Amino acid sequence: MKPTIVLVGRPNVGKSTLFNRLTRTRDALVADQPGLTRDRHYGIGRVGDRDYLVVDTAGFDPVAKAGIMHEMARQAEQAIAEADVLLFLVDGRAGLTPHDEQIAARLRRAGRPVHLVVNKAEGMERSIVAADFHALGLGAPLPVSAAHGDGVKLLIDFVLGDFPLDEEPEEAEDRGPRIAIVGRPNVGKSTLVNSLLGEERVIAFDMPGTTRDAIAIPFERDGRNYTLIDTAGLRRRGKIFEAIEKFSVIKTLQAIEQCNVVVLVLDASQDISDQDAHIAGFILDSGRALVVAVNKWDSVDDYRRELIKRAIEHKLGFLSFARFHYISALKGAGVVAVMKSVDSAYAAAMVNLSTPRLTRTLQAALAKQAPPRSGMFRPKMRYAHQGGNNPPVVVIHGAALDQVPASYVRFLERTFMEAFKLQGTPLRIQFRTSH
Ligand code: GDP
Ligand code: GDP
Repeated sequence: MKPTIVLVGRPNVGKSTLFNRLTRTRDALVADQPGLTRDRHYGIGRVGDRDYLVVDTAGFDPVAKAGIMHEMARQAEQAIAEADVLLFLVDGRAGLTPHDEQIAARLRRAGRPVHLVVNKAEGMERSIVAADFHALGLGAPLPVSAAHGDGVKLLIDFVLGDFPLDEEPEEAEDRGPRIAIVGRPNVGKSTLVNSLLGEERVIAFDMPGTTRDAIAIPFERDGRNYTLIDTAGLRRRGKIFEAIEKFSVIKTLQAIEQCNVVVLVLDASQDISDQDAHIAGFILDSGRALVVAVNKWDSVDDYRRELIKRAIEHKLGFLSFARFHYISALKGAGVVAVMKSVDSAYAAAMVNLSTPRLTRTLQAALAKQAPPRSGMFRPKMRYAHQGGNNPPVVVIHGAALDQVPASYVRFLERTFMEAFKLQGTPLRIQFRTSH
């Protein structure tokens, strides 16, 4: 499981700058998808060979207690409680402030490892940077420059050094697709899980070894094996599942990261909310296969159905690679179709494509529409091979490939997805330039 890094600090110390730097590599992969709403508070990142989730608790203020500030404070408190590592940012140029001291006092009680990070330290003497902040009693201050990137890799290596490197689960193959059923509170996740597992044989229970482990529930349906990844506190009580914990964004993101196929549940009786769009944006970032279940279809009239379909198109258009089902988890309607789409999305995500087939498809695409010339160079694409699964990655080899515009990358993605009839998974293109 990827460790969760939570950034805390008063306004203007550079939390969002550090957040952007820590999530930059992943961002580049899904850059400018039309309509993508991004929650710039939750992201996935990688530095060196370290993968992590990162949360920016903007607006966290232990002193604010009312209105919207209170809600933000509540979310920040939850993130702090679920953090694996807390990075407490201070401003090396402004020096220590009373507000920093208040936050430090709160973090000392967090029961989580806290690292003191002195930002904006570019060009400053190490000892001067550190001197002021030693007084906080949070250990040796770690100097970085979020804006310039200095010290960031060192910081991540240091704070995540004790966490094991994320490895692919080996048994995943024979246990079938790993499914995460996600969505905001009350959309019908537990109802859907119960409808899925109600009469099915739950094979065994993996009880969590530690609180960091998600619960995995292997089950069998129509002779096929699946594993359900527990999300925001869905737990079994007797024969039924129910949500017993408060909704947790971090646990939802962890489950998305650990599964092969996400089932995103939306509620047709409610408007598509920012929270729906944020979860959807994160799913796109993760590259997981996806099936969308628009639930409570039984409870809405034709007018409302039309309205919700249009809202989905408008707000979640970037999920068009996925199949949408209009279901009633309560009545069990549409659940079989959802599982069929889970199967096909999984198959698409795990597809193996040979180099000759990929190269032929690439050449047909080039013949149909050549990449635009950029200055003196026209990008040259020679051949393609597969670089990974879940999502499938197509690596294209050639020259001057850093000049290929995003619109052409999307044309290539569409071409490969159509040629190999991949439904339910995104596909990624990577370029490798050989000189
Ligand atoms: P936040 O409110 O904590 O999220 O802070 P921001 O990330 O918005 O940064 C606040 C200001 O500090 C912005 O003007 C940034 O450009 C600036 N800043 C962020 N990181 C650095 C840094 O490493 N060095 C310098 N000199 N400025 C920085
Ligand atoms: P969760 O918080 O996402 O796990 O949501 P629940 O499964 O607990 O469902 C929240 C509420 O929506 C409960 O009162 C359910 O009975 C109701 N509900 C769930 N699915 C449906 C459905 O398909 N149709 C209708 N009308 N209500 C549903």
